[in-house]
Amino acid sequence: MTGKPVIAGNWKMNLTPDEVREFFQNFRPDFQDRGQPELLVFPSSVSLFAAQVALPQAPSISVGVQNIHWESAGAFTGEISAPLARAAGATHTLIGHSERRHVFGETDEDVSRKTKAAFGADLVPVICVGEELDERTAGRLTEVIVGQLDAVLPSLQGARGREYLLAYEPVWAIGTGETATPEDASEAHAILRERLKEVLGEDEGMRAPILYGGSVKPGNASDLLKAPDVGGVLVGGASLDPDSFAGIAEAGAFI
Ligand code: PEP
Repeated sequence: MTGKPVIAGNWKMNLTPDEVREFFQNFRPDFQDRGQPELLVFPSSVSLFAAQVALPQAPSISVGVQNIHWESAGAFTGEISAPLARAAGATHTLIGHSERRHVFGETDEDVSRKTKAAFGADLVPVICVGEELDERTAGRLTEVIVGQLDAVLPSLQGARGREYLLAYEPVWAIGTGETATPEDASEAHAILRERLKEVLGEDEGMRAPILYGGSVKPGNASDLLKAPDVGGVLVGGASLDPDSFAGIAEAGAFI
């Protein structure tokens, strides 16, 4: 992995347009004389415009959506297409977040189709994979996360690293306060990295950053970000508070 760490905040179904404005008034990370990490936030789609208008001059922050449909237009009430999200100013989209997979029944095939739709609309997909606790305890970590990755690999052929991001988010660590140790994160990232290299080739397989997500907080972000092949973090709960998200962003400042 090369390049800046990525610090991403998934606001889920939270923060009204007014709250988003207030968030940015209070978001003041201090990177001192170190480099600013790449910052991303994923507001609710109804707060996307407010987020864009309220973005500070510095630090620079990109805005994405939390989900897209795989079709570009049509009779899909309640859905948002990749071209619509792009036209509304999103540059990134989450795809296959565990809540989409487990609460809304999204399949690997959906994740693959959405990834293609994102590339087609010039959105950077942030593709999420991760195992459930019973899968981990049954020794199925590799099978599960490589299976989820394999479903999107055909869509990644030809894409250059950083045109997409991967996020390893163990389901048992999301919103639970249970954080994977830096060693757990590195172990899973190494599995994903090996598979990327196997299929995309040594050079290209090294390029995309792999983010860790699951109960990241200011207190554990630094250790996680220092772990081998952790290229950033995807943060849920702790990204809703401007001070705590600033603390995590500061942990991603680099020399
Ligand atoms: C997430 O929703 O992507 C996430 C990692 O949530 P949390 O940080 O709250 O565990």
